[in-house]
Amino acid sequence: MMRRTRATAAASAAAVLLLLAGAPAGAAAPAGAALTPPDPYFPLGGNQGYDVRHYDLDLDFTPASHLLDARATITASADRPLASFRLDYSGPAVQEVLVDGRAAAYRRDGQKLTVTPARPIRPGAVFGVVVRYRGTPERISDPALGDYGWINTPDGAVALNEPDGARTWYPLNDDLRDKATYTFRITTPTGVTALANGEPAGPPQTRDGRTTVTWQMRKPMAGYLSMVAIGDFRVTRSTDGGLPNITAYDPTGSDDGLLHPATAQAVAWERKRFGAYPFDSTGGIIDQVGVGYALETQSRPVYDGGTDELTVVHEIAHQWYGDSVTPSTWRDIWLNEGFATYTEWLWQEDHGGPTVQQVFDTYYETPAGDPFWNLETGDPGRDEMFNYDAVYIRGAMTLHALRTTIGDRDFFDLLRTWARTHRYGTVDTGDLLRLAEKISHRDLGPLFDAWLHTAAKPPLPTPAR
Ligand SMILES: [Zn+2]
Repeated sequence: MMRRTRATAAASAAAVLLLLAGAPAGAAAPAGAALTPPDPYFPLGGNQGYDVRHYDLDLDFTPASHLLDARATITASADRPLASFRLDYSGPAVQEVLVDGRAAAYRRDGQKLTVTPARPIRPGAVFGVVVRYRGTPERISDPALGDYGWINTPDGAVALNEPDGARTWYPLNDDLRDKATYTFRITTPTGVTALANGEPAGPPQTRDGRTTVTWQMRKPMAGYLSMVAIGDFRVTRSTDGGLPNITAYDPTGSDDGLLHPATAQAVAWERKRFGAYPFDSTGGIIDQVGVGYALETQSRPVYDGGTDELTVVHEIAHQWYGDSVTPSTWRDIWLNEGFATYTEWLWQEDHGGPTVQQVFDTYYETPAGDPFWNLETGDPGRDEMFNYDAVYIRGAMTLHALRTTIGDRDFFDLLRTWARTHRYGTVDTGDLLRLAEKISHRDLGPLFDAWLHTAAKPPLPTPAR
């Protein structure tokens, strides 16, 4: 994610140069939870007893009324006997639930949908759940995190789920560790454009004035990265470096012709540094959303109102770091935002901007008593998980301190090995520490403690010899 207010201002090369000139940097899980502890920041999310393999989302949406008529089909495997199971869901009224084709009892309780199948599910069984629901989904407006989930727009809707907004428009197991593949079958009045993650599967089908398009995400995806965008869009398609690139913008705004080529350039440049691009297509969508941030939705980020080169570089970097290699819990969000922010610094240095060292040094001049240092980058707290100083900037500084300590060769080897060995998986900070120590043959525990687990200004790292 990248907020437009602070992040884009601080991210532009001009603003960084101003900084260089001396401006201050400013400032309950059910029984069995012992198997996998709940997320420390979102303990209500995620469910026990099964593993989702695939979501098939049939979404019929009418922009004029914002009415969604939907059927979600979830294919999952049971880890243990299931007399009942729970899904994360806080969307419109449920009309029917089926398990393996038979009507199932269901109950809604807060953000949970509890399903009791006619017959218990055997351990190891692969089972299918169908949930039919209808109504107008509503966004989550969180005092600390802002607006997310299903956002209705004047000409349609867009879904931006980070961190736990997917439940506003479909039932799921909203646990970062339970990735799955997706099919989106979106039906709208003919003439409306519908986009999602991944690639189109076959041509649009039109009948009785309504058109259905199908998109498929064939690689594992966490729920927070799922996305649909429905409305009036101008779509551009090309194939760049063998990779389909599909971008779109809402013509009531503008894209300055930047999004499509900037996406292709960012992917090409980052492939060279990080290794193979993890998904089967790329792209981006500019919509008039009004939430004030861009989000790295898998394979195709969404930008609110417009974008710029560095924001595209940031969201494309997340395809490796965040989308393919995903933190196991939200506490480690610096593994997303630190890497994406550091990628901006690398890009700037390579494109005539300040050097990474200059950017680091400027931020490091921030006095020890400044609030800049007063959260733990490796555990900023639920309400501060998107704190720009603590998570984005100090996350990127942590990577630079690591680079300084282990040297360029080991550091860039680490970036690539991290992306390759944990592709489509979930990780924590301990995994990064172990890999960095293995590659560099150094004890890096004290460095990680000082930079990630201390709410204070850390000492400068000792350069590699
Ligand atoms: Zn981000």
